[in-house]
Amino acid sequence: MSATTSLPRIVDVAASPFSLPLLRPVRSAVAQWHERAGVLLRVEDAEGVVGYGEASPLPGLSWETPEQVHAAFEALDDFVQQSEAGFAVEAERSSFAASVKPLTRVLPPTARHALEQALLDLLAKRRGISVAAWLAQVLVASTAAADTATLPHERIPVHALVRDAAEAATAVAAGYGTLKVKIAADEFEEDVARLAAIRDAVGANVKLRLDANGALTVEEAVAALEVFARFDVECCEQPVAAHDITGLAEVRRNQPVPVAADEAVRTAADAQRILEAQAADILVLKPMLIGGLLPALEIAQAACAEGVGVYATTSLDAALGRAGAVHLAAALPGPLLACGLATGELLAADLAPRDALPVEHGKMLVPPGPGLGVEPEVWPREPQDAQRKGGGA
Ligand SMILES: [Mg+2]
Repeated sequence: MSATTSLPRIVDVAASPFSLPLLRPVRSAVAQWHERAGVLLRVEDAEGVVGYGEASPLPGLSWETPEQVHAAFEALDDFVQQSEAGFAVEAERSSFAASVKPLTRVLPPTARHALEQALLDLLAKRRGISVAAWLAQVLVASTAAADTATLPHERIPVHALVRDAAEAATAVAAGYGTLKVKIAADEFEEDVARLAAIRDAVGANVKLRLDANGALTVEEAVAALEVFARFDVECCEQPVAAHDITGLAEVRRNQPVPVAADEAVRTAADAQRILEAQAADILVLKPMLIGGLLPALEIAQAACAEGVGVYATTSLDAALGRAGAVHLAAALPGPLLACGLATGELLAADLAPRDALPVEHGKMLVPPGPGLGVEPEVWPREPQDAQRKGGGA
């Protein structure tokens, strides 16, 4: 392997804002989205190796805006340009996070995600391996988990988001084994009728996953899930508001459907509070909102140690963000639950070709790499035209 072994020095940072229309508005109980706006990040080291990352703040869930992220990346480029020989990044897991802390600590979560992802893309490319393999090496090195020998996974089971029995039947015919249904955006009786029709259409062997996006009170959630349990539900994501860990624990104790914490999981400290309160059976990992693949992986390890399941999902990210979540999923410990990664079909346009992250029979194929294995199709501004301030390779 012609992998590069010296320490990478980042000599150029370039950022390009994007806005991608959704095919149709996506509605949850807390917000409705019509487009995905974000910032694509490109880093380059002194040897000309390039890495890409994506920052896509989700309105309603992120406090930062794409404009703030873009401004932060311009400041980051100034910082890198002022460092005499570029910014050195440690290539080993044990020292990587500490070495990039001067760059990441002032950034909002989605910008931290983009920067970490771009650096991991670059580091993995230098080694000639996939980001998933880089992450899995981390895990194998740091845990005694018995099943790390199978890492990284090459195929990730993914769920299909469906709205009614017809969409459910189509998804199952295409090979999906797990279906996700949003609840609590309509009247309770409508949810009951919809779930009954979906279960009826797909039979007993398909998993049904619910998502309330935090819209219910504890009492409503307990009562609703008691009823929904008859449809043999795998789990319900975020039945109550994200801040209400005590309420989440109460819902978990008082009805039979397993509870998944989603919007409640934004930092390692959040995850620790949820684990200590025994408030969830499953933690949902959105690396874009958590602020990176490594922080998400650390949460996964903590959950795994407590016997709590995990799965990774996108936040309706564009192709680079989705690729990051796929590589994270490929490195997750424990038995793989279906992940929420097949969200690209919701976008009317994307940053990479549509077939970059293919799904076959309900499983997403992990790009073999090197790096993320997904490159932006068109860099919106060519770096040489983008007023590079010297120092680039
Ligand atoms: Mg959710």
